[in-house]
Amino acid sequence: MDCIFCKIVSGEIPSVKVYEDDIVLAFLDINPLNDGHLLIIPKAHAATIHDVAEADFLAVMSATHKLAAAVKKALNPEGLNLLQLNGKVAGQMVPHLHVHIVPRWSGDGLTVASWELVAGDLEKIKSVAGKIQAEIV
Ligand code: 5GP
Ligand code: ZN
Repeated sequence: MDCIFCKIVSGEIPSVKVYEDDIVLAFLDINPLNDGHLLIIPKAHAATIHDVAEADFLAVMSATHKLAAAVKKALNPEGLNLLQLNGKVAGQMVPHLHVHIVPRWSGDGLTVASWELVAGDLEKIKSVAGKIQAEIV
């Protein structure tokens, strides 16, 4: 398959790895937003959250929890962002599911997750909640 992250899993493309188990691989982002910018992926190809097996997604999140603690101890960031983008419209560039850990320091100049807050219409909010609740299995 012509997938950059599958090629990283197979070793066809080199990467700087920090963690690996049977299901998950974690490596440094090649275009780091800050020091310690990590990507955590399932080894089995899945494009988005809609494609990945629940067990693989949970393994990725478990590794993310472990790695966030390691990043905190190693680099002592003041905070960190977890980012996980699904679909081009959401900004996903590599269609192999991944979680970003982006360590944050005050004054680092990043504008991750900064949007203007505009109050919504409560009736619409409730109507959308009802549609979602009706589809929870
Ligand atoms: P996203 O798909 O969530 O927008 O971001 C994909 C991320 O993958 C980017 O941050 C980009 O820098 C990273 N990336 C793309 N190609 C490679 C690669 O070959 N090696 C590594 N280590 N990171 C990559
Ligand atoms: Zn892949």
